Amino acid sequence: MTHADTLVVGGGIIGLATAFRARVSGLSVTLLDPSPAQGTSRVAAGMLAPVSELHYGEERLLEMNIASAQLYPSFVAELEDASGRNVGYRRCGTLIVAVDPGDKDILVELCDYQRSFGLEATWLDSRDCRSEEPFLAPRIQGGILASSDHQVDTRKLLDALLAAVINAGVRVLHEPAAELLVQHDRIEGVRLENDDTLRAASVVLAAGCWSGTLAGIPSRLAPPVRPVKGQILRLRGPADTTYLTHTLRGVVNGSPVYIVPRGDGRMVVGATSEERGFDTAVTAGAVHDILRDARQLLPQINELELIEVKAGLRPGSPDNAPLVGDSGLDGLVFATGHQRNGILLTPLTAYAVVSCLTSETQSDASITNMLEYCSPARMNLAMKP
Ligand SMILES: Cc1cc2nc3c(=O)[nH]c(=O)nc-3n(C[C@H](O)[C@H](O)[C@H](O)COP(=O)(O)OP(=O)(O)OC[C@H]3O[C@@H](n4cnc5c(N)ncnc54)[C@H](O)[C@@H]3O)c2cc1C
Repeated sequence: MTHADTLVVGGGIIGLATAFRARVSGLSVTLLDPSPAQGTSRVAAGMLAPVSELHYGEERLLEMNIASAQLYPSFVAELEDASGRNVGYRRCGTLIVAVDPGDKDILVELCDYQRSFGLEATWLDSRDCRSEEPFLAPRIQGGILASSDHQVDTRKLLDALLAAVINAGVRVLHEPAAELLVQHDRIEGVRLENDDTLRAASVVLAAGCWSGTLAGIPSRLAPPVRPVKGQILRLRGPADTTYLTHTLRGVVNGSPVYIVPRGDGRMVVGATSEERGFDTAVTAGAVHDILRDARQLLPQINELELIEVKAGLRPGSPDNAPLVGDSGLDGLVFATGHQRNGILLTPLTAYAVVSCLTSETQSDASITNMLEYCSPARMNLAMKP
């Protein structure tokens, strides 16, 4: 039986960043994951895009997305220093384009909505779009330049996080948690599959879309997260040919599509959004649809080599906002349900979770805001019979 201040269950981007921040705050930390630095996080495109991810009715999510995007430069600097690795953070901006006149009307309205929050969103006509991106399809009608929406190479970031976590002294066990141990309405620790137990003062549940499936959580408290399947492609072209400098997004016949250039010939193109349970099969139809729509924005992708097709499972929540903070069970903290913005929300989530672990009085408004808006209590967990 071993003891730590904090046990983190799940080593995707959220669990790793939380373990790192907790360790830097002076806590002893053990992280459990059969395959850390993989999960959905390894599939993600890595867009850090509060402006282009703005959806009607999600204004509070926007506040958190902006706050977390602002933390990225210092988060990246800290990680690169702690790991000795580059994480591929690129201030590339995002161009959201309209393919036909109907899409243009939608984007003009979206641009006004973005600007009503004071966001950096500039309307460009067709010619200006093509002067930003000369390889754009000629029929593009215009678009929004969101110059503050950037990207990170999620795979480099995950590898750096894992290295930083280990360098900082977190104990990483390549095993799943089999069961949460609860006694007298308090978390005691975790049981492993070999029946060993790990005791801890607190447990952070950061198991992505699997967070609701862990044994031992009283059913009234189980986080209501579900898998939302996303299929995504990785393409590669010559490193010396730059078809794109910005991230390119668009809506084609009602389906959103994006192309994220890594700056070295690689591009990430996605993605579907499907309610299919824990299915991670990749399908011919999805590959066809994504490529068909992406070609409408950038015909040149025909020239690129298709090097990977993957499906990841976004941890979806009932209201599309994460569940971050005290679970309602003493000692158990949730860090899950980040759905389509988990990479973006990582730095802010890690600070918010650690402020729960250390019971710090919080003076930072963005952390207080996240803990209030993302409180698991909003799901009435504690009130379920
Ligand atoms: C196609 C696609 C594109 C995306 N693009 C973006 C993007 O551009 N920008 C953005 O911000 N977000 C994006 N997302 C969303 C983002 O990927 C997720 O929100 C984020 O990765 C969630 O991270 P996580 O750490 O919670 O989950 P995960 O990365 O899934 O990690 C959960 C971990 O928990 C582990 N685990 C499960 N059960 C147990 C157990 N019992 N014991 C121990 N460990 C366990 C798993 O092995 C896994 O490693 C995208 C998602 C998809 C699918």
